[in-house]
Amino acid sequence: MSTNVADLESYKTIKVPLWVYKNAKEVELALMKKGLEHIPAEVLMPSTCPICKSALKPMQAKEDETEFLRCVHCGYTQQRFGEQAGEFVMGTAIGMGLIYFLNALFGSMSER
Ligand SMILES: [Zn+2]
Repeated sequence: MSTNVADLESYKTIKVPLWVYKNAKEVELALMKKGLEHIPAEVLMPSTCPICKSALKPMQAKEDETEFLRCVHCGYTQQRFGEQAGEFVMGTAIGMGLIYFLNALFGSMSER
């Protein structure tokens, strides 16, 4: 899997059912209001890949732009979420939800 670093900030269009769209909007608003303090570090800024558990390498698309974490082993990539709140778009909210999903499926979340 080879994704160019510059491509990470490009966009793709997906089609979702209305109920998914409405829930995503709800999550987007809640993230803007509540910030990230309730989101676990495994999702926000993990040190290991949720899929293959290799170390994640930080990288930046452009100077002063979004920071990403990339697994050099399997190619998994995600945004590194900082402490700042208030600049969430729906796509980021969906992406964060998918990180939860990967953590659950690959057993990376701390058991509670
Ligand atoms: Zn990996």
